[in-house]
Amino acid sequence: MALEKVGGMLERVNCNLCGADDPAPLAEIEGFHIVRCRQCGLTYVNPRFVQQTLHEIYTESYYDHDGINNGREFYGYDDYVQDEENIKTTFAKRLAVIERLANKGQLLDVGCATGFFLDLARSKGWNVVGTEVSSFGARFAREQFGLDVRLGTLRELSFDDQSFDVITMWDVIEHVLDPMAELLEIQRILRPGGLLSIITPDAGSLVARLLGSRWEEFRRVREHVYFFSRRTLAEMLRKADFEILRTESADKVFYLGPALQRLKYYAWDGAATQLATRWVYRLGLDKVRININPFTKMTVYARKRGKILSSVGQGSISLAVQRE
Ligand SMILES: [Zn+2]
Repeated sequence: MALEKVGGMLERVNCNLCGADDPAPLAEIEGFHIVRCRQCGLTYVNPRFVQQTLHEIYTESYYDHDGINNGREFYGYDDYVQDEENIKTTFAKRLAVIERLANKGQLLDVGCATGFFLDLARSKGWNVVGTEVSSFGARFAREQFGLDVRLGTLRELSFDDQSFDVITMWDVIEHVLDPMAELLEIQRILRPGGLLSIITPDAGSLVARLLGSRWEEFRRVREHVYFFSRRTLAEMLRKADFEILRTESADKVFYLGPALQRLKYYAWDGAATQLATRWVYRLGLDKVRININPFTKMTVYARKRGKILSSVGQGSISLAVQRE
């Protein structure tokens, strides 16, 4: 498909991690080109939709059934709202990790969607704020849970310096057009020693490498513009002055039925899959809860450095610069 047929305004960009304009082609999906920087290995979509076009994608359909089942476009959450219970089980496990790494205080969830995580964190004693670019998500979170959710991107909303103890950014950074600037903004609004948790697809994972252009995250090429590996995300965090505390592959709680149904997005929609799915529902096993770790996403916990010691050395004179 020619790019002209993609629709929407497009822009061409340099590498967000090293600044080079040295992309090697990796895959072509629905007219979009996924490239890898020859200098640093960052994988990204180039050219890509401009901000305005991306905003138009994050409409209500992003969260409902039709968004993913009707369109040829591959985006949206499957039954996001209906899956609330499983999502909350997943979030509770993540919050437990956060509470081991950070002191309880102000928590910001960037891209908080319908606010399930914020609602949970608040019930555990956190003061919570969310940001969301989808007006449906923001409205749901406010009306359903009475949460403080601001509509817009993180940088548009411009929070005060050092106002949060913890910032979570789950399934978001792959959508952000300037992730380096986003991390620097988080650096600015976190308190010294504050914690950042990022979850994003792991482009270096075995699954991603085996599936290639069939990988689900690559299929979401209209909305996903960056594909990090553990190495490239670590490098960007280091540049933004974060210290990585731990990196793990993200697991998730599913019901068996919907998990089987998802296989069709991988084009594994053969007779065997259909038969298995039918029997799982017939035997009432579709609501069996399973905890799977598909090793396709990574969770990174990073701490804002309290002070940066950059030696501006000249002979025997060196200067310790304290940023805070
Ligand atoms: Zn690069």
